[in-house]
Amino acid sequence: MIFKPRGENIKLEFLQSLRVHKKLEEKDENNYIYLEKGWLGEKQFDQLLLGLTNECLILNNLLLEVNNTKFQIDSLLITQKKIYIFEVKNYEGDYYIEGDRLHMISGKEIKNPLIQLTRSESLFRQLLQKLRFNFAVESRVVFINSEFYLYNAPMNGPFVFPTQLGRYLKSLNTVAATGVSSGHVKLAEKLVSLHIKEDPYSQMPIYTYEELEKGIVCERGCSFMEIANQNYLVCPNCGKLELKESAVLRSVRKLSLLFPDKKITTNLVMEWCGVISSRLTLRKYLLKKYKLVTIGKSSYFVKKDDD
Ligand SMILES: [Zn+2]
Repeated sequence: MIFKPRGENIKLEFLQSLRVHKKLEEKDENNYIYLEKGWLGEKQFDQLLLGLTNECLILNNLLLEVNNTKFQIDSLLITQKKIYIFEVKNYEGDYYIEGDRLHMISGKEIKNPLIQLTRSESLFRQLLQKLRFNFAVESRVVFINSEFYLYNAPMNGPFVFPTQLGRYLKSLNTVAATGVSSGHVKLAEKLVSLHIKEDPYSQMPIYTYEELEKGIVCERGCSFMEIANQNYLVCPNCGKLELKESAVLRSVRKLSLLFPDKKITTNLVMEWCGVISSRLTLRKYLLKKYKLVTIGKSSYFVKKDDD
């Protein structure tokens, strides 16, 4: 069973939205592409783990700390016999390995995920020791993309390649079928309580409200939406249709994400969304999810408690 879901990727959502409002610097754009690719790979792996028996505990996306050192785990699987740590990579294309260095076929060296995994595993063992749990730990780098190939791959490396994934999961399912004890559940609860929430605003590009191009960004992050008809907006890039109300509310959520300190007013939303010209309509939409707070002559919207 899923004991801790992966949750949302605020950082990715943030960049996906920002990059339509403002042309990002190359390094930020590359970071966005990297994050998105990684996230898609992790989600794909989540789906595969869902196919396992319910007798094991799955904890996705853990950020933990031991001895003042933080480490991140893409997926953790707790079974009766062993705890598995998975580092998921969505690399695509041909790569080769030389010693402990990993290269793209073009020669460009990239971080070897094995080094990252070894570090995480060692820190996780230290954490278990500190928490006085005594479980066996095994870790694997999972290459999830079927278009990935690694030349010179070592035979006994802790890798699971795309063509091995099906068989590997079958073997995991056999291990996982025995069920877990209350000690395992205690550990899972402890790990969830120790999970550190990352600040999504750290290492993000700098921007101001004024410099951003205004408009409602398509849900798929491709472009600004335009009026399709009385009730719908359309993305000129991918053709996605969305109800005006849902698009506005989604866009206001992004506004709060990009500018957590800004007070949500009808005027601000009107400017931010661009395409909706009726204040009355905007107010009507906002009141579905927000309540109006009036202080003196000014009023603004705050999110309703039940959302
Ligand atoms: Zn679109």
